[in-house]
Amino acid sequence: MAQILTERHLPSGHVAWVAMSEIADGSMSIGNYQTREKSAGQASVSLKESNRELLVPPISNWSYLNQVHGIQVVEVAGASTVDGDDGDALVTTFEERVLTVQVADCVPVSLISEGGAIAVVHAGWRGLLEGVLEEASNQLNAVRSGKQFAVVGPHIGSCCYEFGKEELKPFIHKHGNSVLASTNIGSDSLDLSAVVVSILDGKEIEIIKQDSSCTFCDNRYWSYRSSGTEKRQCLFAWIEKK
Ligand SMILES: [Zn+2]
Repeated sequence: MAQILTERHLPSGHVAWVAMSEIADGSMSIGNYQTREKSAGQASVSLKESNRELLVPPISNWSYLNQVHGIQVVEVAGASTVDGDDGDALVTTFEERVLTVQVADCVPVSLISEGGAIAVVHAGWRGLLEGVLEEASNQLNAVRSGKQFAVVGPHIGSCCYEFGKEELKPFIHKHGNSVLASTNIGSDSLDLSAVVVSILDGKEIEIIKQDSSCTFCDNRYWSYRSSGTEKRQCLFAWIEKK
């Protein structure tokens, strides 16, 4: 069932929440609106069951992107939502706007600014190489300056993320040997966690929660590498109404 990754109290008195859905909540793929609505409702119910004080904003407040492995950051302003615009990160300063990214092996990240804003990021290897995380951090800072914190959700582990020697080179060049790992059958792999940590360190963003579950190994999550599935779990974040 959906779980809370982080409850962060901001200087303004607001609380930023970051949560993660699981297979049990249903697929959050963008293709089918009704399925998403039902799944998001299910995730809300499971969160309420785990924390009676928590009110998850209704599905009409949820924003989704058509994720394209790029670096485009889309802002959710005022009472609007984003429903299927191309992009790989969302940012907002507004209360009760739920930002989501859909994943099945890629890294879901939420950034929280003490200035009173949040972002969510869909970070696959292409986006990480092109700078989607840095771009989201810059845009977050542009809407509200302040110290930033990061929440990193479950993604494919180095145990299962076989990667070609040539494809590993740009990552090693940029982040050093810490990103080079081995799968559990001994082949070269990319450590996405290490890439994310290296980028966040470079931006002086403190990680306040890092879920180390591997989506390939852990049967609570869908994994594209494991089964080629179209189904997706989602990380969702919002600023609670004061
Ligand atoms: Zn694994």
